[in-house]
Amino acid sequence: MEIAKISVHYFLHLVFPVFIALFFFRQNWKKAYLIMLCTMLVDVDHLLATPMFDSHRCSIGFHPLHSYYAIVVYALGSIFLKGDYRIISVGLLFHMLTDFQDYYCWN
Ligand SMILES: [Zn+2]
Repeated sequence: MEIAKISVHYFLHLVFPVFIALFFFRQNWKKAYLIMLCTMLVDVDHLLATPMFDSHRCSIGFHPLHSYYAIVVYALGSIFLKGDYRIISVGLLFHMLTDFQDYYCWN
C-alpha cells in the first residue's frame, strides 16, 4: 500500500505535469514543465513545522503556503495571470491537489 501511495505521489509530481504542459501550454511545453517542477519548492514551508514530515498530517490547511488562502490565490492566478506567472499558478494549484489526494485518498 505504501509503495502504491509513493508511486502515485511521484507520478503526480513528476509525470503528470508533462500532460498539463502539453495540454495548456503546448507552444512552450518544455519550459512550462520545468516551471511546474520548480513549484515543488513551495514545500519549503514544511521546514517551519515540527515534526518536519508527518504522514498522518495533511499539508493542506496546515503549512502557510498550503493554506486555503494560498490556494485561492493560486486559483485566481491560474485564471487571471499571463505567461510564466500563469504557469507557476497552475503548477502550485496542481501541487495542492497532489498533496490533497495524498492525504484524503490514502488515510
Ligand atoms: Zn506540498
